Amino acid sequence: MRKPEPVPFLDLKRQYREIKREIDAAISEVLEKGRFILGEKVEQFEKAFARYSKAKHCISVGSGTEALHIGLRAAGIKQGDEVIVPANTFIATALAVSYCGAKPVFVDIFEDTYCINTQKIGDAITPKTKAVIPVHMYGQYCDMDAVTEIAKKHGITVIEDAAQSTGSDYKGRKGAIGDAACCSFYPTKTLGAYGDGGAIITNDEMMAENALLLRNYGEKKKYEHVIKGFNSRLDELQAAILLAKLKHIDEWVERRRKAAAEYNKSLSGANVITPAEAKYGKHAYYLYVIRSRQRDRLQQHLKEKGVETLIHYPTPIHKQKAYPEYNSQRYPVAEKTAAEILSLPIFPELTKEETNTVISAVNSFKP
Ligand SMILES: *Cc1c(COP(=O)(O)O)cnc(C)c1O
Repeated sequence: MRKPEPVPFLDLKRQYREIKREIDAAISEVLEKGRFILGEKVEQFEKAFARYSKAKHCISVGSGTEALHIGLRAAGIKQGDEVIVPANTFIATALAVSYCGAKPVFVDIFEDTYCINTQKIGDAITPKTKAVIPVHMYGQYCDMDAVTEIAKKHGITVIEDAAQSTGSDYKGRKGAIGDAACCSFYPTKTLGAYGDGGAIITNDEMMAENALLLRNYGEKKKYEHVIKGFNSRLDELQAAILLAKLKHIDEWVERRRKAAAEYNKSLSGANVITPAEAKYGKHAYYLYVIRSRQRDRLQQHLKEKGVETLIHYPTPIHKQKAYPEYNSQRYPVAEKTAAEILSLPIFPELTKEETNTVISAVNSFKP
């Protein structure tokens, strides 16, 4: 039998080839116009992404991390405040809190969805708590009704980390279910630019106004600076690229879901735990994450079969060197799952043959 071709974790060149004409035209239009910062492409993209997200406002910024940072600042988070964050997220969620001089307070996660354990948020709330950041892990929403209820009860702000959830929905809703949602257009994300980019989505006028000031030197009118803002903007080239890609996003998400359905069906008998899709929403499968007690051996086995995998994320934030003051804290579910999770290749251009290669490779693993 012929040895199957290796399966890459992600291949961004395939998508470019599929829509090369649209992308090349979008790029050359910007180059021909000669305007690169805060021009019409940014405006058009913000309008289009707000509409897509069913939100009133979209304020694009330099990255997903900056969207979180500016989103928190726009909500008034400052030195001495506490912000609740899940223990298993990408480090940027916690860093954004730290940038504000505030303190991240970690909460453990649900074992099935890997999203923040909403039953544990209440215990973490103190008089200093000003906000909570539900992270929609791997492309699936947190239980937003539960988050919203707790936040309302304690009068705290909800800033969603929606970096991984573009294309998913919560009970048919998208966009800002909390006070704001922060998106990332990092190249590997479901809607990815060809560089860094991010956006804040909100229905709140104050949040939108503050975010607009914060991303552009606190400038209200040309050279009139009302607060000490930042330089954090999506550039025209990225906006033009994203605008072209946005037209395809729903189809791309469907292709991801199709691959995920294939995996779900064929891996459920294997010695691995497949992702749980919560009843309240649509999983966009930014990542397809399985679990095995023999994760490291499984990853090695897959590597030998030519299947590239990654771990999102191997070390919970409270165990990171960057946060030594948290190193002795314990979040058992985040710690346990971090040792068992493994992300399989999933992207819209993954072929049927490749999905089959991945499935056979996982199923041939002897734990
Ligand atoms: C990617 C990501 C970020 C950061 O986004 P960047 O655009 O890379 O700055 C934040 N949070 C989560 C959960 C992410 O996956």
